[in-house]
Amino acid sequence: LVPRMREFGETIFAEMSARAVATGSINLGQGFPDTDGPPAMLEAAVEAIRSGGNQYPPGPGLPELREAVAAQRLERYGLEFDPATEVYVTVGATEGVAASVMALAGPGDEVIVFEPYYDSYAATVALAGAVRRPVLLRPVEGRFTFDPDELRAAVGPRTRLILVNSPHNPAGTVFTRDELQVIADVCREHDLVAVTDEVYEYLTYDGVEHVPLATLDGMRERTVTVSSVGKSFSVTGWKTGWVTAPARYVRAVQTVKQFLTYATGGPWQRAAAYGLRNELPWVGELRKSLEAKRDRLISGLEAAGFATYRPQGTYFVQADIRPLGFTDGIELAKALPERAGVVAIPTQVFYDHPEAGAHFVRFAFCKKDEVIDEAVERLARLA
Ligand code: PMP
Ligand code: GLN
Repeated sequence: LVPRMREFGETIFAEMSARAVATGSINLGQGFPDTDGPPAMLEAAVEAIRSGGNQYPPGPGLPELREAVAAQRLERYGLEFDPATEVYVTVGATEGVAASVMALAGPGDEVIVFEPYYDSYAATVALAGAVRRPVLLRPVEGRFTFDPDELRAAVGPRTRLILVNSPHNPAGTVFTRDELQVIADVCREHDLVAVTDEVYEYLTYDGVEHVPLATLDGMRERTVTVSSVGKSFSVTGWKTGWVTAPARYVRAVQTVKQFLTYATGGPWQRAAAYGLRNELPWVGELRKSLEAKRDRLISGLEAAGFATYRPQGTYFVQADIRPLGFTDGIELAKALPERAGVVAIPTQVFYDHPEAGAHFVRFAFCKKDEVIDEAVERLARLA
């Protein structure tokens, strides 16, 4: 293995999901729902296969999906993108982020990431030969946020990109317009590009509104936005996403993506287009149901003795393990399957500064109510 990849072992999601299977534990680790997406959308994928949509789709993606993405951006956010030149379909958001970072940052360049960060970001920056510069999100009155001065101080002569994620996995924060304005100001002042991962764009709670970074003044021109069908429509295994950006950035992403995977699975793209056109009301219902599941998991975790942070979006709750007398989240997460029959993710793996994240574990609530109930009942026996 090349030196720059040696710090990365197996992803925590693979490791913990395997532990869940091996021990028969309830898996509140890896974020995937245990119910399916909209039936007619699933049917659209089957129909795409039956009707012969089984050969290579165009590299940039099926026109019907690129058009559906452009229509969604326009209707929901008032953002105009040319489906022919400013929308590009990728193998999930993971490839969207990876192709964007590899296209826009090179050896020795610096990429700012908000810590804790989704695990693929660090590896992707390393694949590009670039260096990550973490900016810490700290809990302030129950919500994780950053210090604007620390963001400004993280910018140096080699900074190329700011990698943003809102709604944020694993912190659960949905950046406010003011927070995004700080990021936008830094980007403009230092001529940086923002790559923003907005896969949870529909999954926000308590009336909190997701604001796309690209909607801020002057940002459409310097933002690459990444999203995916997985979370919005409960089809995480479809691995179908898209990038929207000015044409010059899309061309850069294309140059990388075409040699990573060339194209993205055709039948999923047809079904994704169907979903964006027809199933947004279903997504609205999903959002409501997840909000209730979040509250259900939080009550259960609190009753079990954890201190929790109420996320404004995503699938995940951060739990502080110290009230239960634990201090090391990695140790606890490793012991939980045997001790409680539950799998969670040690949040520390998303940090460069272990001391900042050592006392958190992340629990997913995108599960059936009875699964959440059984998990928290088991966790209550921990104390
Ligand atoms: N970004 C974030 C923040 C995520 O939580 C996830 C995984 N759920 C992804 C990207 C990956 O998305 P995809 O499966 O579409 O590659
Ligand atoms: N995004 C999901 C999570 O954070 C997992 C995706 C993956 O397995 N790579 O749990």
